[in-house]
Amino acid sequence: MPNMSLKKVPMPEQDPNVRNKNFKEVALGYTEEMAVEEAQRCLHCKTMPCVSGCPVNVRIPDFIARIAAGDFLGAAETIKETSALPAVCGRVCPQETQCEAKCVRGIKGEPVAIGRLERFAADFAMRAKDRTAQAAPDIRKNGHRCAVVGAGPSGLTCAGDLARMGYDVTVFEAFHTPGGVLVYGIPEFRLPKAIVQKEIDSLRALGVRFELNYIVGRTSTVDELFEEGYEAVFIGSGAGLPSFMHIPGENLNGVYSANEFLTRINLMKAYLPGAKTPVMIPKTAVIVGGGNVAMDAARCAKRIGAETVYVLYRRGEEEMPARLEEIHHAKEEGIVFKFLSAPTAIRGDESGSVIAVECVEMELGEPDASGRRRPKPKENSSFLLEADCVIMAIGTSPNPLIRTTTPDLETNRHGCIVADEATGATSKAGVFAGGDAVTGAATVILAMGAGKAAAKAMDEYIKSRSGS
Ligand code: FAD
Ligand code: SF4
Repeated sequence: MPNMSLKKVPMPEQDPNVRNKNFKEVALGYTEEMAVEEAQRCLHCKTMPCVSGCPVNVRIPDFIARIAAGDFLGAAETIKETSALPAVCGRVCPQETQCEAKCVRGIKGEPVAIGRLERFAADFAMRAKDRTAQAAPDIRKNGHRCAVVGAGPSGLTCAGDLARMGYDVTVFEAFHTPGGVLVYGIPEFRLPKAIVQKEIDSLRALGVRFELNYIVGRTSTVDELFEEGYEAVFIGSGAGLPSFMHIPGENLNGVYSANEFLTRINLMKAYLPGAKTPVMIPKTAVIVGGGNVAMDAARCAKRIGAETVYVLYRRGEEEMPARLEEIHHAKEEGIVFKFLSAPTAIRGDESGSVIAVECVEMELGEPDASGRRRPKPKENSSFLLEADCVIMAIGTSPNPLIRTTTPDLETNRHGCIVADEATGATSKAGVFAGGDAVTGAATVILAMGAGKAAAKAMDEYIKSRSGS
């Protein structure tokens, strides 16, 4: 008999007033008993609507059935068949708009906690792996070489799949640490870096080589990679170029892009004593934006010591693109939300440092091209927020370096690489692309799906040329 409780089994969390001062993980994960209890809520629907909501079609009812039966390693294996980074996805995927949005248990009550169960199975398998000596995987090399540009989720997935097929794979990464947004963007309290490190270690065990501090387009170009003997190249360089509002005062001291602020904190550990890359400790920080990036910047600002943190979002709470869980956690941690508000200028003192943000209230008008109601300033509604730090989290686009140094690579007007959705093939023979570099800022699971599809297409491309 299934467990007919209308509510998910709650997941233990750190207390909000404790966790808003530390970087330890907020959500603590299910115990074995909790996982089995939650798994028993699944009805094993024949039509499997949850699977159609998952961008990589994880066999959700199958892995949940294994958890319900106490076969936790089997559950993790089932997920691994389609998802390369389950411990990551279980933590950061927007399940509420994907698999869980389609779950029939959600019609009356809460959907099955698919994300929490995925995380449980993946963590269980990781701990089991830590306890046992792993033999090096026995892979027959096929003598062909592939290059992957960027070590984010799309590049890591592509590299892993190619290595398993027998390719000699080198990942070229601009930063000194692989992981992409998983290490420089998403904070430790949402995604512990040790988990990402384990995934990278398992790629190294497959024979994947990492060339770090290597900027494709500067250290060498895509064409030079082919000259060096790589037969196909995957570009998974993300969308790391921050956008600004172009309002007065954006060049004052104390104004950051969320990208820079988060990189200093997450990658360079700027909050630790003696860190080589410092970050200012704000008294009052104003974060502009309403996505996951804005939530992460706000919650980091609080953790490094800001007394007051405002999130300024030009639409209403319902329109916020951030995950519901992140908004909920940010509120619990004391972040102050100012909806229907936008900055118009940033004021500075004579030394050039931020002292206040001039703002205006907004109201929602007719729907725009995206279908969302367009915000417009309300008359005579300006107000001032005193602040010493402003963090812009209003979006990113792909860095132009690769497109400007690869002349025959077609890009669109947003600077994204034009690539076939099913294969990742681009306008340049042998060059495949996927993830945020193609879609613009999106999600981890979509980037992974693109890396997987491209690996398959690269294999077919190389085989068709070599006749093997
Ligand atoms: P990235 O992860 O951006 O990786 C690209 C890599 O390429 C980087 O390591 C970069 O250094 C490297 N690179 C760039 N140019 C070059 C070059 N010329 N040469 C060599 N290397 C290069 N998604 C979710 O699903 N859930 C979330 O909760 C979530 N939260 C987020 C929070 C933040 C703060 C941010 C910024 C993003 C978040 N996202 C989230 C989005 C998600 O992280 C991205 O969609 C995903 O990481 C894209 O993967 P990618 O492989 O395409 O690119
Ligand atoms: Fe289980 Fe929900 Fe999927 Fe049905 S839709 S199989 S209840 S997870």
